[in-house]
Amino acid sequence: MAQDPDCIFCRIASGDVPADVVARTDRVVAFRDLDPQAPLHVLVVPVDHHRDVPALAAADPEALAELTGTAARVAAELGDGQFRFVFNTGAGVGQSVFHVHGHVLGGRPMGWPPG
Ligand code: IMP
Repeated sequence: MAQDPDCIFCRIASGDVPADVVARTDRVVAFRDLDPQAPLHVLVVPVDHHRDVPALAAADPEALAELTGTAARVAAELGDGQFRFVFNTGAGVGQSVFHVHGHVLGGRPMGWPPG
């Protein structure tokens, strides 16, 4: 499905719902998370609707590559270039919005393994 009118990230990508957009290409949009977990916390999403990262990889690997490149550019331009890149995949591990999004987290020390 290209867009889902009931999906909040589709509506942000189309400009229908406002967001603090920090980068945009034809295929992807990056915007600040509403509830930041680090000094840098940006979500990078494809414009088209895919429920999670395996679905995006299967349907449109070029968009996934562009999403990754945009994450690196955001981390370099808004931070020091180091970032954690997280795709929660499944409700059991914390995915709450079922439109694939990469969390770009940076600007503070981070432990491993994550909680
Ligand atoms: P998930 O838990 O990995 O699915 O991440 C969803 C993220 O989306 C959370 O970090 C939320 O804070 C964030 N979020 C939900 N709605 C909005 C919004 O409208 N604008 C920006 N971030 C949002």
